[in-house]
Amino acid sequence: MRDFFRKSAFAILAVSVVGSMAIAAEAESNDEGIKGFVDRAYSLILGREADPYGEDYWIGRLEDKEITAAEMIHGFVYSDEFIAADLPDNEKVEIMYNVMLGRSSDISGREHWMDLLDMGAQMDDIIAGFAGSQEFLGICSEYEITAGTVEGTDYKTGAFVERCYELVLGRTSDLAGKQNWIDYLHTDGNYADELLYGFVFSPENLAKAPSNAEFIELLYNNCLGRSSDEAGKADWLSRMEKGMTRERVFVNFVRSDEFTAILREYDLGVDSDPFYLENGIHTGLGIYYPGEGPLVCIDPGHQMRPDFTTEPNGPGSSVMKILDPGGTAGVVTHISEYSLNLDVSLKLRDELLDAGYSVLMTRETHDVSLGNVMRASLANDYGADIMIRIHGNSLDNSSYRGTLAVVTTTGNAFVGGISPESQRLGTCLVNNMCALTGFPNRGLLFDDTMTGNNWAKMPCVLLEMGFMSNPTEDRAMQDPAVQAQLVAGMVNGINEYFGR
Ligand SMILES: [Zn+2]
Repeated sequence: MRDFFRKSAFAILAVSVVGSMAIAAEAESNDEGIKGFVDRAYSLILGREADPYGEDYWIGRLEDKEITAAEMIHGFVYSDEFIAADLPDNEKVEIMYNVMLGRSSDISGREHWMDLLDMGAQMDDIIAGFAGSQEFLGICSEYEITAGTVEGTDYKTGAFVERCYELVLGRTSDLAGKQNWIDYLHTDGNYADELLYGFVFSPENLAKAPSNAEFIELLYNNCLGRSSDEAGKADWLSRMEKGMTRERVFVNFVRSDEFTAILREYDLGVDSDPFYLENGIHTGLGIYYPGEGPLVCIDPGHQMRPDFTTEPNGPGSSVMKILDPGGTAGVVTHISEYSLNLDVSLKLRDELLDAGYSVLMTRETHDVSLGNVMRASLANDYGADIMIRIHGNSLDNSSYRGTLAVVTTTGNAFVGGISPESQRLGTCLVNNMCALTGFPNRGLLFDDTMTGNNWAKMPCVLLEMGFMSNPTEDRAMQDPAVQAQLVAGMVNGINEYFGR
């Protein structure tokens, strides 16, 4: 359609010079109907009277309903005559206000469109933007003509690609490269953060930042378009020193409020399942809360849907275990374990943050798909100092009660070296919890088959808070007062472990 317009009537008409057009309000025409509308467009857009050939041409096409009003306006502003006039953007915007809205521009509206033109918006986008307005529909109904619309361009996507070229590569795009990335973003399942990842993690770009400090500075510039602030940079640097991976720092940058606001300007979003975080089975994002103190990874056990795919039960192990067979449920409350685990974990998160710890949550919703390798990998990638896996216990025998911590032995093939610290952590937790809740203290349970414990590179316990198969403990663990005691006991245990 567009190509046709370019070669349309105007190309063979004598070029009339469009001077600097001070457009008065609306040039009223006495003519009615389609002829009036066409004459009005000549006057407002080209600043001259219609010539008979052109007038007949447009009237004919509108009468035959080959085109709509919006498409005719498109034909005018993409005519050789209008293009040759080479008007400045502010005049073009003013013309569009007059022809499509029947009024002069207001300051904020004009500036909005000027900004978008700066970003790369085209006249199509202004026509598309105005075509649905009450004003335009009103004008068209006055002339008894179909308003219609035209397709806007995708300038915002192009502008985001251009931003990546400028911030990361320090140059403007080449046409082929830019189109390639625009096509990438138009492909289902690809997102802005993944495109930016491709730029930031290119070998040429990473070569600019061999050290962690340089890498963090690079991310501030590449993602946020600014240099670092001291506090932010110091926090990321301390995380990286504890083992946080570059991908994890990156994903926190692209999910920050600041970057989210930037993406909103381009109508773009981030992937909830970005390829650069995949561990071969599942992707985990984690939710990180920086604080002054040690980083505690809280892992609320299970999720809404069981997942029967398998994963190795330790690094390099050929023993495969199911990701999540699903947890248990309260014998009397019938509340799912995944629900109890998250309720308590969220309270623990808040108490730890109040106590000055940094916190990493492996999940904060039920609708996730995390294996135990992924949960431990999150703790590893963020450089967590300890990992606490929150669970409720269950047995066939409903008389069993009490709190216990599942930990690895010193003979564990994967993490035997840190098992003493895991055991110390487990003891601190269970003792302090039972002191407050009065639940029986079942101490430590040694088990080297727990996938999450085997993958975690830091002291890690799987905490069984109580038995959901026991009516008394099932009811108690749903009591907010008892949950507060469980959490306070955990905080006391963590404080004891860190000597705080
Ligand atoms: Zn469980």
